[in-house]
Amino acid sequence: MTENPRRVAVVGAGASGALTAAQLLRRAALAGVPLDVRLIDRAPAPGRGAAYATTADHHLLNVPAGRMSAFADAPDDFVHWLARRAPGVHTAADHVPRRLYGAYLGEVLAAAEARAGAARLHRVDDRVVSARRAGEGMSLRLGTGRRLDADAVVLALGTFPPDNAWAPGRLRRSPRFVADPWAPGALRGLPEHQDLLLLGTGLTMIDVALVLARPGRRVHAVSRHGLVPRPHAATALPPARPPQVDPAAGLPGVRRALLAHVSACRRTHGDWRVGIDSLRPVTAALWQGLSPADRIRFQTEDRRLWDVHRHRAAPATARAFAAAVAEGWITVGPGELADAAPTGDGVRVRLRDGRALTVGAVLNCTGPQADVRRVPDPLVAVLLGAGLAEPDDLGQGFRTDALGRVRPADGSPPAPLWTLGALRRGSLLESTAIPEIRAQAGEVAGDILAGAG
Ligand SMILES: Cc1cc2nc3c(=O)[nH]c(=O)nc-3n(C[C@H](O)[C@H](O)[C@H](O)COP(=O)(O)OP(=O)(O)OC[C@H]3O[C@@H](n4cnc5c(N)ncnc54)[C@H](O)[C@@H]3O)c2cc1C
Repeated sequence: MTENPRRVAVVGAGASGALTAAQLLRRAALAGVPLDVRLIDRAPAPGRGAAYATTADHHLLNVPAGRMSAFADAPDDFVHWLARRAPGVHTAADHVPRRLYGAYLGEVLAAAEARAGAARLHRVDDRVVSARRAGEGMSLRLGTGRRLDADAVVLALGTFPPDNAWAPGRLRRSPRFVADPWAPGALRGLPEHQDLLLLGTGLTMIDVALVLARPGRRVHAVSRHGLVPRPHAATALPPARPPQVDPAAGLPGVRRALLAHVSACRRTHGDWRVGIDSLRPVTAALWQGLSPADRIRFQTEDRRLWDVHRHRAAPATARAFAAAVAEGWITVGPGELADAAPTGDGVRVRLRDGRALTVGAVLNCTGPQADVRRVPDPLVAVLLGAGLAEPDDLGQGFRTDALGRVRPADGSPPAPLWTLGALRRGSLLESTAIPEIRAQAGEVAGDILAGAG
């Protein structure tokens, strides 16, 4: 008699979903376990998601190729893939076009599928709109009305579209408002010869401004703080040992210790980035050691500064941005929207400091919605409403155990439900880049195959 394969549904086929599916197939093949993996997403190709679906060559990875392997235990895998594709073109220190990374992840999944033994991968071109417990497993409802039962479910949903609540209603309803610059086709059809206003000054703003800035059109970018991501170093940096910091000392003590560490790294290695990068292995533990009040304080007082130093722009991107600023095609700085009134031929904008601008369109570059309780996503709403998941202390994602298994709200035994990536930000602080995601994908797959579901 043949054993029934264990059924795993992976919801979302971006980098997180593709890496989890690849890990499940590889591990099942190694263990000789029959497994049925359903990878569910409307996206046309796996492994792309918002970050790697771009076809623009100047959209570069913001992490050097040497840190972007799909597998933590094979750190050169992506660099070797690049070398097979175009020998001698890229080094581990390069920030390569993001579209190449999407192609790589697609091949990683295809290779895992080809060698999966008794395990099988099925792509399901649909969206999951609801989930509930069904016996020992779970039952998913899809957008097309179909039902899909699984023994284990992985939520690889990524981030959610930006919050637009800050925008005045008449702007939100206007065709001159771009609510999500990463939505397919969002940047097409903007008025050619009018200035534009971008709200938000992070990595999204840099990418968008570089696509839109040109002679004859000025792109204004403002945010409350006006801070812009710092550039990566042009060459590979030496590693440094992370500092020993006791988070029980409280946020002021942690701040002092980290600043001292970064200054010491700058003195020793000539670059502050060495100190910031050395914090990667201790970030989650430091974060989890802070009290809930300190974590909230970090969000309001330190988060922006942390982000612009930790999530840096590729050197070539930073150079192109600085050149466009020097040309006067982009202006960037502090500023808050006070009002925005669409008119027949533009949007009249007033900033809180009294400045007035007339622009052809306003683009929301504030980044993904960070509060999971406010996400207008039916699946998230159902999971929270039914108590299958509960928000973490900051509301940025779901509370999970150390391997990503989602904790139910009422302390009842957990459902066979895991998550990774952005939905773990609240508990790990950093949980959106590949170095974190690939480790989580391995942990989730290992936990599921260990039979924890
Ligand atoms: C512009 C940009 C550049 C980036 N550059 C880098 C970089 O250089 N290096 C790096 O390490 N990180 C980078 N990141 C971080 C990036 O978030 C991760 O690397 C990674 O792409 C996250 O993948 P994900 O699968 O978690 O999320 P996503 O890429 O958002 O994918 C989630 C997928 O889930 C699907 N989905 C959501 N809900 C459902 C549902 N209910 N049913 C079915 N499907 C669903 C969506 O359709 C989507 O395809 C970048 C991010 C952005 C936005």
